[in-house]
Amino acid sequence: MKTVDQYEFNQYIMNNVRDVIQDYQLIKPQDRIALGLSGGKDSVLTLHLLVELMEELDFELIAVSIDEGVSGYRNEGIDAARANADKLGIELVEGSFKNEFGFTLDQVSNLYQSACIPCGVFRRQLLNKISKELGADKLATGHNLDDEIQSFLMSFAKADFRRFSKFGPKLDKIHPDLIPRIKPLWKIPEKDVGTWAVMNKVDVHFAECPYSHTSLRAKVKNYLNQVEGKRKGTKLSILESFSQTFKFEKKEIVIGQCKLCSAPSSLNICKACEMVEDIKNRIK
Ligand code: SF4
Ligand SMILES: [Zn+2]
Repeated sequence: MKTVDQYEFNQYIMNNVRDVIQDYQLIKPQDRIALGLSGGKDSVLTLHLLVELMEELDFELIAVSIDEGVSGYRNEGIDAARANADKLGIELVEGSFKNEFGFTLDQVSNLYQSACIPCGVFRRQLLNKISKELGADKLATGHNLDDEIQSFLMSFAKADFRRFSKFGPKLDKIHPDLIPRIKPLWKIPEKDVGTWAVMNKVDVHFAECPYSHTSLRAKVKNYLNQVEGKRKGTKLSILESFSQTFKFEKKEIVIGQCKLCSAPSSLNICKACEMVEDIKNRIK
C-alpha cells in the first residue's frame, strides 16, 4: 500500500484550502484579515496556510487570541498561539473575558447547562469587537468540515432555522460593524488537521477543553464519528446536503445595534449584554 508522504499531504491540504478560497471568493486583494487563533490545531493550521498565501493573494494578516479563563487549559493554548505567531512573524492581539466582561469562564461555568453556551456568546462578541478595532475586513476562523456539519446538525435538531444563514465558508457583510467570517478549512476533515500537525511537528495545543463533554456538540461529534466509521463518506455527504439547502435558506436578517454596548444585534439588547446582566444577578 502506498503511504502518503509529508510533501504530498501538505499539497493536498493547501490545494483544498486554495480551492475553497477561490471558489467562494473568501479573500480579495488588499484585505485585512483577522484570524481567531486559539493555539489549537485548527486555528494554527489556518495561520500557517494563510501566511503561505499572504503574498500570492496580497492580503494582511493579524492574529487574535481570546483567553476565556479556563484554568489549566487555555494558558497552554495561548502559549502555542504566541509561539506560532512569533515564529511566522504575525502580530498577535490578545483579549480576555476577565478584562472585557469582568469574570472568567470558570467563575460562571456552573450557571448554565453547558459552559459552552456563555463561552460561545462572549467569544463571538469579543472576537468581533477586536477585529473591528483592528480595522479587519474579514475574520478567519479555524472551523473545519467536522465543526461545520456538527453545527448544522445541532441547529437542525433544535429547529434553529435562523442559524442556517450562518453556514457556508463565507458569511455576507450584513452590518457595518459585524465583521464577516471566512472559514478556509471548510472542506478539511478534523482528522486531517491532526495528521498535518503531527506530520509537520507543529507546536499546537492538543488538549481538550475540560468543559467540552458538557456540550451537545460533543454528543453530535461522537455520533458522526461512529457513523463515519461504519459508512465512510457520510460527513462529506452531509456537507453536500446542507450546502444545497443553505443556498435556498439564506434569508435577509435585519441587524440593528445593542442599546447597551452598541454591538451589532438583531435584538434591542445583544445576547452578550443579556447574559452579563443575568450573570451579575445570579452571582450577587
Ligand atoms: S469546549 Fe466549550 S467551554 Fe471549552 S472553549 Fe470550547 S466552547 Fe468554550
Ligand atoms: Zn450589548
